[in-house]
Parts: sequence; structure tokens; C-alpha cells
Amino acid sequence: MHQEDRALGLAPQTTDTRDMVAGAIDIAQGKPVQPITLVRPHAAARAARFFVEKFPGRSMYAVKANPSPELIQILWDNGITHFDVASIAEVRLVARTLPDATLCFMHPVKAEEAIAEAYFTHGVRTFSLDSLEELEKIMRATRNASDLTLCVRLRVSSEHSKLSLASKFGVAPHEAKPLLFAARQAADALGICFHVGSQAMTPEAYSDAMERVRAAIVDAAVTVDVIDVGGGFPSSYPDMAPPPLEHYFETIHRAFESLPISYSAELWAEPGRALCAEYSSVVVRVEKRRGNELYINDGAYGALFDAAHIGWRFPVTLLREPQSTVRDHPFSFYGPTCDDLDHMAGPFLLPADVQAGDYVEIGMLGAYGSAMRTAFNGFGSDETVIVEDEPMVSLYTEVEREAASNVVKL
Ligand SMILES: *Cc1c(COP(=O)(O)O)cnc(C)c1O
Repeated sequence: MHQEDRALGLAPQTTDTRDMVAGAIDIAQGKPVQPITLVRPHAAARAARFFVEKFPGRSMYAVKANPSPELIQILWDNGITHFDVASIAEVRLVARTLPDATLCFMHPVKAEEAIAEAYFTHGVRTFSLDSLEELEKIMRATRNASDLTLCVRLRVSSEHSKLSLASKFGVAPHEAKPLLFAARQAADALGICFHVGSQAMTPEAYSDAMERVRAAIVDAAVTVDVIDVGGGFPSSYPDMAPPPLEHYFETIHRAFESLPISYSAELWAEPGRALCAEYSSVVVRVEKRRGNELYINDGAYGALFDAAHIGWRFPVTLLREPQSTVRDHPFSFYGPTCDDLDHMAGPFLLPADVQAGDYVEIGMLGAYGSAMRTAFNGFGSDETVIVEDEPMVSLYTEVEREAASNVVKL
């Protein structure tokens, strides 16, 4: 990149105090003491446009994956008009950020006060449920509203996914009949929703679930207006390269077309991870090296909850100029708190000569990374910088980081 382009890139943002810089390597050269979250608006915009253009139905963003107002605005600007919210705080957040957005309250167990506020104050009309008690609660809270879209959550298998969502919510398909029947009576529009589990590694997760939907519809003999296939769309991580998202979309479309539902029925999805994983990464400093263990300044209580607690492997890059030519070696990480649990087993592959004082970018933390940070033990930082370089991995472009980083080099 040319010097003057870089200077332009460094010009301050108009509305906030954050600077926009070319890329991760520039951040490392500033030798930050605190971990820094990098955000890539172009990556989130690209993911949103992909779903809007290619998913054969409506894509609504599952806000819990990353509730950042900036991200929500980017998704809206790129065609995402519907948002899956699960708490009254998420309802208020999206209503405040995007007054014209459509909110769907898709938590099957809600506080009655939350339902009432969502319905009467924020105009929410779509709710999910998995029990007759919840149906009664919704009807009470909305004073028997006649304009509701009620989505019955079915329990489906999580066997094709890395993170199960099969045990907590959902009515078993063979027990769904009374609930579908009662919801049909109460609803203006009746939906069936499910969640195959997060990071579904094969499209069959959805076709299998659709077979359960079919069984439930046939058994209950009700007219269904909405099929909501939930989230679970994967992103790319080391050792977890999923098939192209188009394959998922084709499988879902085919299964949807073959269901015994009304001619005008709608197909919905609730992608969380797939819309925001590439949106952000974190630049950390190595404070100490002990053999193959690196002590870094972010961890389990910061953006690396999943790396610590479910052994998720995120992509990593050593940010050093000139780049190290030493061969990669497997490392594990310790986070900054005094807690032994603050440990990320990895393995994370980094050049074998990595040492204290080096900076490492940990990628794909836009989903369930930034959203779960705490300030435990006085660590953690909110510092965020917008960057223009490519994420380390992308499902939405052929451009690999290698190519991009050559451009950034001065
Ligand atoms: C978490 C969640 C999502 C998003 O799941 P991803 O795996 O991130 O796509 C969608 N819908 C519901 C009901 C959820 O709980």
C-alpha cells in the first residue's frame, strides 16, 4: 500500500473516536498494551449480501451471536430487515438501533412482562414457544391478540453440529400435535421452527430436521404458514472447513418445497455465526512463553470463552515484520487472569520462534467471542479499531489473507 493511501486510511472516523487503519499488522506496529478488537465492516456486509441474495427465503439475524449496534446497522444497510431476539434487552437494543426493523422473539421460555413490552411497546408480533404453558402466557401477555405469528419449536437432532442445542428447548415431533393444534387456533400465522445446533457441518442436518417437521405436520394435520430452519450455518475454522453454504441453501430449498404446507408458506432462517464470525478478530500480546505455552493478554473471560470451554480452535497469525520464516509449531494459550481455567488448549499453530512481546491475531471472533467478554480480574478491554484488510478466512470470497497481506506491506 502506498504511503498516502495509508495516511488516508488512518484518517479519523467521522462520528466516533475510533481510527480506521489498513490492517492487523498496523495495529501490532503500534505496540498496544491491551488486547484490541479489530472489526471488518466489509466482511459483515459481504456475509449479509450473500444471505440476502442466495438464501431462498428470509434471513433474520440472531442477535445473540454479536449484539454490537454497529454490526446490526451494517447488516440492516445490506438488506437484513428481520432480527431474531431472545431477551427484552435485545428487543430494546434492536428497536432503538433500527426503529423500522422487524423483531421476532424466538426464545421459547420468556418472561410474561417481556412478552407484553415486546408486543405493546415495540410492535413484536412473532413469538416462539414449545409448550402449552408458554402459549397461554403469550395469549395472556398480549391480551389475546389476533395478529400473532406463533412458531412452535420442534426438537431435532444436533448430531451433525459442533454445539448441541437439542436438550434444552423444543417439543418432540410425536408430542407436537396438541401444541400445533392449539397454536393454530390462537395464531394469525402458524410457524414451525427448530435449531439443528451451531456450526452444522453438513446440509443433511437440515434435511433430517425437515423430515421431523413433515412428520409433525402430517400428524397434527394443521396448515403451516412459516417454516423457520433456525441457525447453525457454519463458518470456517482450522480443521472445520464446511461445504459451501450454497449446498445448505439448495438442500433446505428442496426439503421446503416438498413439505405439505400452504402454497404461500414462507421459509425463514436465523443465521447468527455465519453472518458475523468474520466481522472481528482480536490482536493480543504474548506476555510470556513457557515451552509450548504462551501467556497472552486475552482469554477465557475475554473473547476466548469458546476456545477455553469447548476447545474451539480459532485461526491465528503472528503479526511480525518481517514475517518469521521459522516453521509452525503447536502452542496452547494461557489467558491473563489468575484462574487455571483460563487456558486455551488449541493447538494453535504459530512460528516456532514466537516470543514474549510478539503480537498474535486471533481470527473469526465476531460470533460468540466479542459477545461474551467480561472484565473479570481487571483484564479485558473494549478498545475497537476498524480495519480494511481481509479476515484470515472467509466463506464469502476467494481472496486469501496471504494475498491481502502482501498488499498491506509497506
Ligand atoms: C443461537 C441461536 C441462533 C443462531 O445460531 P447460529 O448457530 O449462530 O447460527 C438462531 N436461532 C436461535 C433460536 C438460537 O438460539
